[in-house]
Amino acid sequence: MVQAVTEDPTKTYTSGTYPKQEQPRPGLQSRMTPIPNCGEKTYHGSGKLQGKKVLITGGDSGIARAAAIAFAREGADVAINYLPYEQSDAEDVKQLIEQSERKAVLIPGDVTDENFCKQLVEQAFNQLEGLDTLVLVAGMQQAYKSIADIQTDILRKTFETNVFSLYWIIQAALPHLKEGASIITTSSIEAYSPNPELLSYAPTKSAIVAFTKGLAKELIAKGIRVNSVAPGPIWTPLQICGGQLQKNIPKFGQSSPYKRAGQPAEIAPVYVLLASDEASYITGQIYGVTGGMPIA
Ligand code: NAD
Ligand code: MG
Repeated sequence: MVQAVTEDPTKTYTSGTYPKQEQPRPGLQSRMTPIPNCGEKTYHGSGKLQGKKVLITGGDSGIARAAAIAFAREGADVAINYLPYEQSDAEDVKQLIEQSERKAVLIPGDVTDENFCKQLVEQAFNQLEGLDTLVLVAGMQQAYKSIADIQTDILRKTFETNVFSLYWIIQAALPHLKEGASIITTSSIEAYSPNPELLSYAPTKSAIVAFTKGLAKELIAKGIRVNSVAPGPIWTPLQICGGQLQKNIPKFGQSSPYKRAGQPAEIAPVYVLLASDEASYITGQIYGVTGGMPIA
């Protein structure tokens, strides 16, 4: 049974300040303080995604890990992609999925490689014995004090990871996706209210908004829905691997109306809704989960 909300949402989950901490990208969430809450102990499913076969990128940690856990508990078989460095976080997710008696497939590899994106989709399709849902969450973010400091190799990598990989994965997946399929991308509050320290990143998220809206118009003719989730500040490895300047880590999220960062567990239910057949009349939409910051 899902419990009714009885507490002030601004006071649930973590409040207060975070300790400064830095890891090399892509980082491990098992080494964070505090460890992000991906709903491991709290998410209860109710069969909303029974029998679905889902590929989730970035599924070892953060927002995508929360989605992977929720999807398995809702009855889906789940393949997750991540970078080889993140194997230990990914093994934890595999265990959690298997505890729900669903199939877990681990497919490490770099989505900035077009050929790998094709292999990723084929492996997911073959090992899951079908594919009907794409949850595209993998992303990178590097903060800079000024546009003058942005390095071209990081700029290129950010666009390749956040934007180009969507084209490659969806191109490879389309022949497998039948009517009723759902594609969910991950944009950001940064698409709407860009932070000047995130100039190499925020425009990738605006690109994802346009990509999602345009693709939705094309694919509805095939009966496929396409939507995006736009998170606000969420406590994840991305933020402590250069995604924020270190000076901003302690008060991360406190400028939102909630005056706190969100936890990945607070986003997963929106991915579940968008993947489920209950969202049959929803396509081309961007769903904000921002702690009260408007996306318009
Ligand atoms: P995260 O670090 O847990 O997840 C990012 C994941 O991207 C990593 O786990 C990694 O597996 C994957 N990844 C990065 N580069 C890759 C590559 N080249 N190949 C394959 N996988 C790669 O952090 P998160 O915050 O959960 O990030 C998930 C998504 O949410 C990202 O797209 C991010 O832009 C978006 N987002 C996050 C926030 C936030 O505040 N945390 C806010 C808005 C949007
Ligand atoms: Mg990770």
